[in-house]
Amino acid sequence: MRDLKDFFFEPACGLNREKDKKEREKGCSRPKPGSASGGCAFDGAQITLLPIADAVHIVHGPIACAGNSWDNRGTRSSISDYYRMGFTTDISEIDVVYGGEGKLYEAIREAVEKYKPPAVFVYQTCVPAMIGDDIVSVCKKASQDLGIPVIPVESPGFVGSKNLGNKLAGDALFRYVIGTKEPEYTTPYDINLLGEYNIAGELWQVLPLFQELGIRLLACITGDSRYQDIASCHRAKVNMVVCSKALLSLARKMEEKYGVPYFEGSFYGIENTSNTLRNIARLLGDKELMERTERLIALKEEEVKKKLEPYIEKLKGKRVLINTGGVKSWSMVSQVKELGMIVVGTSSKKSTSEDKKRMLELVGDEGMLIDEPNPKELVRLFKDLKVDVLMAGGRSKFVALKEYIPFLDTNQERMKPYAGYEGMLVLAEELIRTLYSPVFELCKEESPW
Ligand code: SF4
Repeated sequence: MRDLKDFFFEPACGLNREKDKKEREKGCSRPKPGSASGGCAFDGAQITLLPIADAVHIVHGPIACAGNSWDNRGTRSSISDYYRMGFTTDISEIDVVYGGEGKLYEAIREAVEKYKPPAVFVYQTCVPAMIGDDIVSVCKKASQDLGIPVIPVESPGFVGSKNLGNKLAGDALFRYVIGTKEPEYTTPYDINLLGEYNIAGELWQVLPLFQELGIRLLACITGDSRYQDIASCHRAKVNMVVCSKALLSLARKMEEKYGVPYFEGSFYGIENTSNTLRNIARLLGDKELMERTERLIALKEEEVKKKLEPYIEKLKGKRVLINTGGVKSWSMVSQVKELGMIVVGTSSKKSTSEDKKRMLELVGDEGMLIDEPNPKELVRLFKDLKVDVLMAGGRSKFVALKEYIPFLDTNQERMKPYAGYEGMLVLAEELIRTLYSPVFELCKEESPW
């Protein structure tokens, strides 16, 4: 099992950099009992890697582990649907007594013969890790025998939270996949996106922008990706870390080993999208591309602002509370402010002080930063802040609906894509749909009986 110490000392993480020397030496907070309740490390690893759409993903563990995480993200694929099939070794009591390595080998062999994928990912879970199943050796043997890459992902749930699992998945890609193949050809305009999972098809909203600019997406890690693209993505000229700190350490390691510079950006909102395109063009270092980018930005901004006018009429002045995490907290703030809405509060959970400073500037005098409110506090905030609509993850959904507060899912289970210029129109439409739904007023009325 990989030494987990390294994952608690990420030098590229803003939160770590802000600490003094003594605090930094302590590293990130260690997992505590119950820390897996919001999703365990296995869950985190799987949601990071499952979008590799042409690979087979086998969960080595009791069937409940696979059931717990199956299809838990609205990630979309344009090729196979292997990632939605839920392969598992279904470990039982007998395997706990005799060991599950043989069963795992057979599962890999069967999956390769039946589906002929370019690679297989094998996820370690709590039970086989505790009985000592050595998935690394099984994967190595299967890979030699079957002639395809079989990648062990050492992420048993008990090692920590979902976030740690994201990092373990990035580490598995760095150790076993990235750099194992050369791309067929390269161009000076090759980039990778890290931490973009194509939720509800968001990648497809930004791809046309790249195509118009002549930028080639070498690999998306991992939304709608192909195994071979990720294996050869070390030849990219720029890595962009999309709205997520989870794969920051992968970006840092790729910079150290392959010299690929990286930056953090966001495709949520008009300004963020434009700035991200500018940053990509700047890092690619082509003057003509930078000019082309400015021309495209001017065109797209004018287009989308015109289309947004009727929506802004309806959304202007509506009070929104945002309860999401990390970089999304500020990038979504600027997105809804561009729709004329008032952000009365946004969650600052897991945000760096740089993020918080940016959020405070964005929310201005009318908004406040909140720190992961529990349901009771959320209800109080609805009343105190006169909230018109809540934008949050599924966990807050029922609190909002029980209080007759319109709700918009902005987390991974969402069904609609909100990225890029096009995503602004979708977001505006969805906000109007929920804000003006008659159901909330009807619910407040007395029952007719
Ligand atoms: S890996 Fe462990 S914590 Fe995660 S779902 Fe399976 S049993 Fe539960």
